[in-house]
Amino acid sequence: MLLDPFKRPVSYLRVSVTDRCDFRCEYCMSENMTFLPKKDLLSLEEIERICISFINLGTSKIRITGGEPLVRKNVMELFKNLGVFLKKGKLKELTLTTNGSQLEKYAEDLFESGVRRINVSIDTLKPELFSKLTRRGNLDKVLQGIYKAKEVGLKIKINTVALKKTNEHEIIEILKWAHSNNFDMTIIETMPLGEIDYDRTDQFLPLSKVKENIRKNFTLKKSDHYTGGPSRYFNLEETNNRVGFITPLTHNFCELCNRVRLTCTGKLYMCLGQDDSADFVEAARSKNWETDLKKVILEAITRKPKGHDFVIRRKQAPSVKRHMSVTGG
Ligand code: SAM
Ligand code: SF4
Repeated sequence: MLLDPFKRPVSYLRVSVTDRCDFRCEYCMSENMTFLPKKDLLSLEEIERICISFINLGTSKIRITGGEPLVRKNVMELFKNLGVFLKKGKLKELTLTTNGSQLEKYAEDLFESGVRRINVSIDTLKPELFSKLTRRGNLDKVLQGIYKAKEVGLKIKINTVALKKTNEHEIIEILKWAHSNNFDMTIIETMPLGEIDYDRTDQFLPLSKVKENIRKNFTLKKSDHYTGGPSRYFNLEETNNRVGFITPLTHNFCELCNRVRLTCTGKLYMCLGQDDSADFVEAARSKNWETDLKKVILEAITRKPKGHDFVIRRKQAPSVKRHMSVTGG
């Protein structure tokens, strides 16, 4: 088992397989994003080597994310190959965060490769607002993908970023929809990651306000459910389903952090909110990749910091220059 300098076990690897996306969500990206040149990306085989090395060091959970992971060519091969480790009992969970645009096409293959739970991001159920907010997306297509995923047996969690004025008054509706379909839901505060075309202070909605509003409609009871991540969960008595809150700005969530993040260019970020990283490219391309990757992983974990230093202030540059789509949300 990997232990960081603060004795936190590192058992969870998140892998951004691409920084590209078919959407341009306003809070995540700018309209004119410059994506990484394809030649700078690790191949899927190199990504797999890194994942295997983590699994051999005790990592029990891998989440594939991005950018939009399902737009990376042949990404199902990665799911299939990592799924073998689920069957061997070396990996407990292989999962995915997606915007849902390609889910209808891939839901069955995901289930077959051993994926059982996925997160799908939906910030509004209003078709026009959805197209505006994502600058590209089609809500119908995403919903079809979600229902297909449900049909094939994938357990779904809806991720919703709380945005002042934009979906502030719709969150209860999204929650009702999610729970009526037996989907859990996690509500997320915007984080200051990467330049976008807006001032984040205009978008920032503290979740204390959202919680207050939910309490007017439902009975929230603290849940024991805990995934080692930033989400704090509550049960809604009326629906018998869970809602999680991720509040990096109003509460620090780092004390029990169990995760590290690999980018599609082979950098390992030990914290979403800090700039320090370790470069795995050479080790992943080496003939002796097994020993070389083990060495660089062990060294990187000794540098996992205690926590992030996020702040959102008017006209201030983002705390971290990388977009969430680079480090993987
Ligand atoms: N494209 C996929 C999706 O949207 O689910 C996976 C990658 S996306 C970067 C992962 C999650 O990060 C999404 O739920 C998205 O809403 C969230 N996200 C992106 N930028 C964010 C930001 N600046 N603050 C908070 N959450 C953000
Ligand atoms: Fe793409 Fe996900 Fe970012 Fe939206 S949040 S632009 S879907 S990576």
